[in-house]
Amino acid sequence: MRVLLVSPRLAIQKGDFLGSGVPYWPIELAVLATRLRDLGRDVSVIDLFGAGTRTFTESGDHYLQGRPIEAYAGSEAVRDAGVVVIYAISYMSHAEVLGLVRWFRSEHPRVPVLVMENAQAVTAYSLPRVADAFFDAGAHGLAIGDVWPVWESIERALLDPDEEGPANLCLASQRGGDPSLWSRPRDDHRRHPIPAWDLFPLEGYWALPYAHGPKQRKYLPVLTSRGCPYPCDFCVVPETNDRRWRGDDPEHVAGMLIELRDRFGVFDFHIEDLNPTVRSERWSAICEELIRRDAGVRFYFVSGTKAETVKLDQVGLLARGGCRFLSISPESGSKSVMKAIGKPFDYTHGLELVRACREHGIRTQACFLVGHPAETGEDRAASEAYLRSMVRAGLDEAAIFIVAPFAGSRLYADEKIELRGGLGALPTFTPKGRDDFGVVDAARKRLIRAFFIEKLKKGADLWMQGLRGVLGRPQTKMENLPLRVVFVMSRVAGLRARRTLGRAARFPGSARDGVAA
Ligand code: SF4
Repeated sequence: MRVLLVSPRLAIQKGDFLGSGVPYWPIELAVLATRLRDLGRDVSVIDLFGAGTRTFTESGDHYLQGRPIEAYAGSEAVRDAGVVVIYAISYMSHAEVLGLVRWFRSEHPRVPVLVMENAQAVTAYSLPRVADAFFDAGAHGLAIGDVWPVWESIERALLDPDEEGPANLCLASQRGGDPSLWSRPRDDHRRHPIPAWDLFPLEGYWALPYAHGPKQRKYLPVLTSRGCPYPCDFCVVPETNDRRWRGDDPEHVAGMLIELRDRFGVFDFHIEDLNPTVRSERWSAICEELIRRDAGVRFYFVSGTKAETVKLDQVGLLARGGCRFLSISPESGSKSVMKAIGKPFDYTHGLELVRACREHGIRTQACFLVGHPAETGEDRAASEAYLRSMVRAGLDEAAIFIVAPFAGSRLYADEKIELRGGLGALPTFTPKGRDDFGVVDAARKRLIRAFFIEKLKKGADLWMQGLRGVLGRPQTKMENLPLRVVFVMSRVAGLRARRTLGRAARFPGSARDGVAA
């Protein structure tokens, strides 16, 4: 039987380079592809984003980046599919994922369509929270949590309505009930399948002049652990992972990097784990193994890890093992906001870690958020003061997010923040649908300004970062930005030009006179 795996287009909010548009890869879909092959299934992949990174389509308040699914109508992959799996990679692409479900149901009414949760991203969402929307669109089933270990029973339940499915599958026939009671089975595997990247359009990702981490010509994202033990109230991960953290064996991780290096000629790896360093000794063992095997690879912790779990006396070993970038998440400079979030932060350790990384040539990023419902003006001032002290300690970059209600987070369940437009509003980390968006956006801009002012005081550092960014040799994420802005703006300009030419052809005179048709 042929299983068709589909990854959606990327949604980019118009005029927003801070809260949407980051090209995440469908890692867990590629892991499932490996499992399917091991089980002897035929696997096809349609990665709409990767196959069309230069194609932009306008859709209300955002653009969709990638090839539209209609381009595959009548293709062998669609025609021969026995089961279709659509990957709900990001909450920002929710409307696109729903559209894909509808398209497959009308194109291929008899083929089961399964929507698969992305449990390993803070930008994703908990499918039970939006189950009705998927079933109304025609999905046969929703698979939540870890899918690859239980694929065979999912497949049996999809193809045979009398078959009982595993706990992490909800079928259309069982819809209803309390979605918060659906369970995600434990996946305690210490050796996850190595993603089948050969099935994906890697060149499309590599041709982009930007990435989630500092962009190298060729790179691959990897997961070395799953889940996170912390309970942050703005985050979907406590629900999608039941606060369980599972790390792969160090030898397996080192072996995976070396195998990917040899298969794809890639030496740079973006570690996309939610919280890679939860057991700090695991990364020491991974580095020792990489050094012992003379791997010659570089790796970048590109998602904010918990700073306290990286020990100061471990930083030198991380650097020797190949670490070049570390993102940490202070979130807020205010202890009372951190208490409301549910995650403590050791501010002294944060500064010492930044200093230690600078000494060992590891670039650092600190992630802050603004707009938490518990945040006051004093708390924002505390964040600014702490950010300034981090820059003085040697911080390379800051990422400032605005809190948004992602489906599955506690803030979403408590309805503490509403977005105008409800489910129709694009949920991003620049949530323009918030009633107080003007206030929280101004707070973000103040933090960004404080960061740059403090950086300028430090001399040539910032200028060198700008130069590397313009030359396309980034060592931090922020250095991706110049080429990313040029790329996106040029695609948007092309879109507008085509639209204007289209109008001119249909209504001669309107384009020349600048009159909207
Ligand atoms: S530390 Fe908090 S924000 Fe980060 S993944 Fe865990 S729960 Fe989410």
